[in-house]
Amino acid sequence: MLSFPAADVPDEALVAGSWRRGAGAPVETVDPATGLAIATVHAVTVEEVAEAAEGAARAAADPGWRSLLPHRRARLLHRIADLIEETAEQLAALQTADTGKALTETRALVASAAGTFRYTAAALETAEESITPSRGDYLTMSVFEPVGVVGAINPWNSPVASDAQKLAPALAAGNAVLLKPAEWTPLVSLALGRLVTRALAELGLPPGLLSVLPGRGSVVGDAIVRHPCVGKVTFTGGTATGRTIAHAAADKTMPVSLELGGKSPTIVLADADIEQALAGVMFGVFSSSGQSCIAGSRLFVARERYDAFVGELVARVRKLRVGPGTSPDTQVAPLVHHRHRDTVAGYVDLARSEGARVLCGGSAPEGEAYRDGAYYLPTVLDGLDNASRTCQEEIFGPVLVALPFDDEEDLVRMANDSVYGLACGIWTRDHRAAWRIARRVDAGTVWINTYKQFSIATPFGGLKDSGLGREKGRDGMRAYQRQKSLYWGTSDAPLPWAN
Ligand code: NAP
Repeated sequence: MLSFPAADVPDEALVAGSWRRGAGAPVETVDPATGLAIATVHAVTVEEVAEAAEGAARAAADPGWRSLLPHRRARLLHRIADLIEETAEQLAALQTADTGKALTETRALVASAAGTFRYTAAALETAEESITPSRGDYLTMSVFEPVGVVGAINPWNSPVASDAQKLAPALAAGNAVLLKPAEWTPLVSLALGRLVTRALAELGLPPGLLSVLPGRGSVVGDAIVRHPCVGKVTFTGGTATGRTIAHAAADKTMPVSLELGGKSPTIVLADADIEQALAGVMFGVFSSSGQSCIAGSRLFVARERYDAFVGELVARVRKLRVGPGTSPDTQVAPLVHHRHRDTVAGYVDLARSEGARVLCGGSAPEGEAYRDGAYYLPTVLDGLDNASRTCQEEIFGPVLVALPFDDEEDLVRMANDSVYGLACGIWTRDHRAAWRIARRVDAGTVWINTYKQFSIATPFGGLKDSGLGREKGRDGMRAYQRQKSLYWGTSDAPLPWAN
């Protein structure tokens, strides 16, 4: 159950500092555990996107913001972090209601969102611009300036964390932001918008620095990308959408950052600590019900250990507790939406038609408690070729495909035989093998004897079709700035062509 009054569910858009019902179509957001509506949020129109973009451009150019010193901008980020921490339980409950995710996960995501604002504030206060070595009679330096207005477009799987990951560095860099949440899950972004509005008002900063614009991607998202005031788009979502956005950005010669999909290999070598690997493989793919870009959804096990490992894994997966996100016992919560559950079920049907053996799961759970929710059982498949669609396409649900490998060459060939390159897990006691494989595998992040651990201090992003650019880390905010070089003459000697 929601732990806050229904009247407090945020359902208005934030357009250039004004809270209002969007002038577009109403969209009901649904609790995927119950199928019941939580709120009706009206989409904004293309005209309202333009109003927000123009308001953002004015706010970004406001001297009170543009010339605000870094330590004062950092105060804004700290204040937003304070407000997130003060309302952490409500935000977690709201995200659980909107996305279905287990409360244990949404609480951690809210804490990490606050941490992102604090880390970014510290990075902002300690960031340095540089004087570069001179090769003549001049002083040269590199300075970083805001791009102005940033469009931030996010998917539905972890809104509070993805919003913070874009909002904190974009504001730290001195920009205004147009934030577009996914149509299925706008509530946490709107709640975050309320907190940012409050922090801006307390510090006397322009309210138009943040707009939160709910609505469909092909209308609202597209209008953000194409608006002439928008100078950079940062996008997290599917690869096909990322490509569409990159094409539109190319028409404006506008930079984009893309955090896209994955089909990440998780690798168990013959000498792995089996207990550790079993727990890590299960957590890596079935936490968040597999709705995670970095889900370790292709399992490669050394052939000599394959039957024993996969047999024990399946026995344990059958015991995972499936239930509503609000229950403290739940390990596998419902999927975000009934339509997405049907997509995942369609992939398991495809796997069957490709010759897969369904070792466990393969359907929605039975029973009254699950009847109205978007549940799907954690599923393990095998008997497929790595070239099959099931092994190649991102399912984004609780579905693991297991494959044996013969030797390191065979393993690396299969692991890299994917359009994606987001993440990889390696389970072994042999540090030399771990090093070799980690260096050879196409992945932006490699975990060795752990999985899905994250630090805001460590850059994150994908290779190949998994994305362009990096988020997080001390330099995360540089992705929202333009670098400028300055030359300052220091000599009284006559310049060339001087009389
Ligand atoms: P999606 O369909 O690509 O949507 C992502 C966002 O883009 C949504 O807000 C969507 O709006 C919007 N959008 C859709 N079409 C657009 C267009 N033409 N122009 C501008 N915006 C547009 O992805 P999803 O199904 O929500 O999310 C799942 C995907 O996200 C998976 O592939 C997953 O791997 C990826 N993901 C990647 C990372 C990472 O860091 N690499 C993290 C999380 C998720 P509407 O939904 O409102 O239509």
